[in-house]
Amino acid sequence: MQKLVQIIYISRSTFESTDTINKIEPNIVRILSKSRINNRKNGLVGVMYFGDGAFFQCLEGDEEAINNLFAKIEKDPRHKDIKLISRKYILELSFPNWSMKYALFDKKMGKYLKDNGYQTFDPYAFIPEMTEKILALLIDSPELSLELDSTTTSQAEQSSLKLSSDKNLILISLFLSITAFVCSLVALLSVRGTV
Ligand code: FAD
Repeated sequence: MQKLVQIIYISRSTFESTDTINKIEPNIVRILSKSRINNRKNGLVGVMYFGDGAFFQCLEGDEEAINNLFAKIEKDPRHKDIKLISRKYILELSFPNWSMKYALFDKKMGKYLKDNGYQTFDPYAFIPEMTEKILALLIDSPELSLELDSTTTSQAEQSSLKLSSDKNLILISLFLSITAFVCSLVALLSVRGTV
């Protein structure tokens, strides 16, 4: 029989966050894009928060699939100090529609941290009782859609974009040439007609 499990872990990123005003950090975009494809394929769901260089991620789904994924995640060089802070069996998925929600820091989270004496998002300093509350806040928080920019799209995507813009240029040039030709023909015919 399939057993559903929920895990929550924290980790620290090994990459430096780039200056990304109104954009998600490119490494996060890559992780999210991959996670959404893989998790959907494997029937897994998840929610992730990244702040002040720290990850907080909750994953749910079939026990074996979760174990396999966590084994991969533990080896991922994009983060370190991976610490499993909660693991439990569940009867149903808590957020069945999110293959990987990227939760945003909102007022409620800010207030909760402040009320508990934290100035930054430092999950290593959180007391265990906070885990469930943080998860509930992340499930409730708004989600940011992925904004892919030129630094995050793959080379294949970029060259396919370039190809399609080249194609458009050729079509526009062709259209302009035909229009110029037709105009010249009309002008020539009307000159001949008046002579
Ligand atoms: P591929 O994407 O083909 O990757 C092959 C190998 O290359 C993997 O070992 C991978 O770790 C490594 N790799 C890929 N891209 C990079 C890169 N940019 N830099 C360095 N190494 C790289 N994956 C999920 O499927 N679901 C999740 O929910 C999920 N959550 C994650 C959360 C965090 C915080 C991090 C850091 C990673 C997460 N990942 C998640 C990614 C996961 O660690 C694996 O990279 C991914 O599952 C591998 O996918 P794949 O088997 O299709 O192999």
